[in-house]
Amino acid sequence: MSDRVFIFDTTLRDGEQSPGATMNLQEKLRLARQLEVLGVDCIEAGFPASSPGDFEAVRAIAAQVKDSEIAGLARCLDSDIDRTWEAIRHAAHPRIHTFLATSPIHMQHKLRKTPDQVLEMVVAGVKRAAGYTSNVEFSAEDASRSDPDFLVRVVTEAIKAGATTINLPDTVGYGIPNAYAGLIRHVIEHTPNADRAVFSVHCHDDLGLGVANTLAAIQAGARQAEVTLSGIGERAGNTSLEEVVMALRVRSDVFGLDTRIRADQLFPSCRMLSLIIGQPIPANKAVVGGNAFAHESGIHQDGMLKHRETYEIMTPQSIGRTSTDLVIGKHSGRNAVRNKLEALGYASLNDDEFQSVFEAIKALADKKKVVHDEDIEALVMSEVYRIPDRYRLKSLSVQSATAAMPATAAVVLQDGDTERRLAGFGVGAVDAAFNVIATMLDRAPHLERYAVNAITGGTDAQGEASVRLTEGSFSAAGRGSDPDIIIASAKAYVDALNRLAAKEREESRN
Ligand code: MN
Repeated sequence: MSDRVFIFDTTLRDGEQSPGATMNLQEKLRLARQLEVLGVDCIEAGFPASSPGDFEAVRAIAAQVKDSEIAGLARCLDSDIDRTWEAIRHAAHPRIHTFLATSPIHMQHKLRKTPDQVLEMVVAGVKRAAGYTSNVEFSAEDASRSDPDFLVRVVTEAIKAGATTINLPDTVGYGIPNAYAGLIRHVIEHTPNADRAVFSVHCHDDLGLGVANTLAAIQAGARQAEVTLSGIGERAGNTSLEEVVMALRVRSDVFGLDTRIRADQLFPSCRMLSLIIGQPIPANKAVVGGNAFAHESGIHQDGMLKHRETYEIMTPQSIGRTSTDLVIGKHSGRNAVRNKLEALGYASLNDDEFQSVFEAIKALADKKKVVHDEDIEALVMSEVYRIPDRYRLKSLSVQSATAAMPATAAVVLQDGDTERRLAGFGVGAVDAAFNVIATMLDRAPHLERYAVNAITGGTDAQGEASVRLTEGSFSAAGRGSDPDIIIASAKAYVDALNRLAAKEREESRN
C-alpha cells in the first residue's frame, strides 16, 4: 500500500455550502490557483449541474489549473454526468465524481429506491462517467450509516464499472473513530477488487470528530482525504485540510505517511479564504488560528525561552506564518510593489489591476507608516477580486455623540450607474452608517453578526470588520478593511449587501 495520502480539496464545493461562504467566479478562480500552489492533488471545483453559475466556475477553473486534477460532482444521472464532463473536459487532469446514497434511511426516504435499484443506478452512472474519462470517483453517500455488506456489493460493482477512487463518506458527522475505521477496513478487506481503487474518506465535524475520523480511516487503509481549508463546509463543517496535513507530518512516527502539500502555503491559503468569504479565522483554530502559536502562561513562556520545543510541536514558519515585515511604505516604487505582490502570490494581476492596487497601496501608505503583507492582501481582494460589484462606498462621514444626542452619518454610495447621497441617525456611529446605507438602497437586512479585528499590530493598524446579513431567504457575510474601523465596518456592510444582491441575481437566473 502506498505511503502517500492524496489530498482532495472540496473548499470550492462542500466548503462553499457553508452558510455565508458564497464566492464569485473571480474569487473561485483565485482560490483554485492558490490550491494548486498549495499542492492539492485534486480540486473539487463545484457541482456543474446544480446551477449555471457553478457550471461556469468549474469550466473556468478547469481551463486554468494545470498541476491539480479538477473534479466535478454529479449525481448518478446521465444528465448530471454529461453536464459535468462538459464543464471539466478541457482540464489537464479531469475527474468525474459521482455519488449515490447507500444508507437505508436515505434509500428509503430520500431516493425511494430499493437497494437493488440503487446498485443498478451506481453501475449505470459509473459506466457513463467511465465512457468519458478513466478518472472516476464514486461516493457512497452516508456510508457511515450504511450496511457494511451492502457497501461491499456496491463498491465491488462500482470498481468493475470503472471507478478508480472509492469514497466512503461520513456525510452526517455520525462516525466515531474506531467504529468508522472498522467500517473502512471491513470494506477494503471484503471487496475482491479493492486493489484496483484508491479508498477515500470524507468526514464532517458535527461531533467535532472530522479530523479524528479521517486519521483513523487513513490508518485503516484509506489513501485519499477529502478536506477543506479551515474546515469550512456544510453545517459544522468538513475535515480541515491543514489539521490533517500537519498531523500526518508532525506525527510521521505514528503514521509513516505523507502528502504532496507545501506546508508553508497553509497559512497563506487559509488567510486568502478568510479574506474571500469575509469570515475571520477563529483565534483558537488549530494550526492557523491567531493564538495557535501564542504562549500566555508564565511557566510555558519560561519553557519557550529556555528551549522552544518544550511547548512547541511545530513552528509558525513551517505553516507559512512568517513575519516578512514591511518594506512597503509611501516611498516604495512600482517595482518594489510588483515584487511584493509576486511574493504574496499575486503575479497574475494585469496592468489595470496592478495600477488600481498600486494606487490603493500608496493611498494607504499616506495614512499609515507601514504597510504590512496583510494590508496588501486586503487591498488586492477589495480592489481586484470584488469587482464587479453593484454597490461601492464612495465616502462616509460620521459624528459620534454623547448619550443625549443620536450619532449621525452622511454617506455617498455608487449604486450601478447612480450616485446616491443620504444622511441619518443611529444609536452609535456604526449603527448610523448601517441605517443610512440600508435606507438609501431601500433594503432592510437583519444584522446577525458584527465583529472588528485588527489585522496588524499598532494603533495605525488596519481594522478588519466582518458582518453577516440576512434578508428574506438569503444570507451573506461581508468584510472590509480600513485604518478607520467605522469605515471598515461600512465597507463590510456594503460588501455583504453586494453578496446578497449577487445571490438574488443568481437565484433569478436559475
Ligand atoms: Mn460533505
